[in-house]
Amino acid sequence: MPTLIEDELDTIPTFNSTSTHTPTMTQATPTFLHPAKPQSYLDADWGDENILGIGESLTRILPPEKGATRFALLTYIVPAKKEFIHYINSAGKLSVVRCHTRRSAKYSVLELAECCQVLKNVPMMDSQFRLVALALKYMNADPKTGRYATPKGGHPDIQFEIGYVQLTANGFREIVSEVRGLEIEGATNPEEYDFIMMPRESGKGQTYKIAAKSGSKALYLSQPELVAQVREAAAPFADGAALEKLLGKAVSKDEMNVLLKGVSVSSAAITNPADIDNTDDL
Ligand SMILES: [Zn+2]
Repeated sequence: MPTLIEDELDTIPTFNSTSTHTPTMTQATPTFLHPAKPQSYLDADWGDENILGIGESLTRILPPEKGATRFALLTYIVPAKKEFIHYINSAGKLSVVRCHTRRSAKYSVLELAECCQVLKNVPMMDSQFRLVALALKYMNADPKTGRYATPKGGHPDIQFEIGYVQLTANGFREIVSEVRGLEIEGATNPEEYDFIMMPRESGKGQTYKIAAKSGSKALYLSQPELVAQVREAAAPFADGAALEKLLGKAVSKDEMNVLLKGVSVSSAAITNPADIDNTDDL
């Protein structure tokens, strides 16, 4: 029998029939084991939510190729985050970094930084606005329409996952104008409603519509136990750290210069289109 290294065990599907590793049941197993009492801060507990949250990353919510995804924004738990970023293909390596250009409160350029001067005319690498928001994805909504069949007098059985939506300035405008378009006095909070995300007809990027034109509130909000589950599932992301990571790397001026030196303008186009997922504005 080959020697197994611990971490490789997962990748070995089955033992063959000549294996001598036959399970034996010679000892009775106790029904319950009680975990040892923690004695110092070094002791870990299998139920520790904080450990479960370490390095946990978020999945982007996207619609199926020819369908719709229903989601609700969780910006009452953590604010959406925004930044101008650059994709930089430098010396064959793709990085996403935060732009150094100074902008006014209205986003007009105050002083064009080196990154924008160099990358302004390089295909796909000019600065672009990115906004990311924590959101709930309705996993069992109709994949064509994003709708739920509601049983009479009852609530739909909702399954959800926590993820994030990534918006361009266009997407942001769509969400805001959908909410302002409701005929409800004072409707201004997108987090109160469900949205349907669909691929744009052009095939590039996504488009957003409010799920109920009547202004009905987000489906999950009418089930208090579901609201509690959503809060619990979203808790590891409430500090905003996972969202901030999605806004690219903050690099120093020196690090940026090294990256920019590695950009070859003639062959600069990013070669792997799968790496470009923010294409609304392109
Ligand atoms: Zn820049």
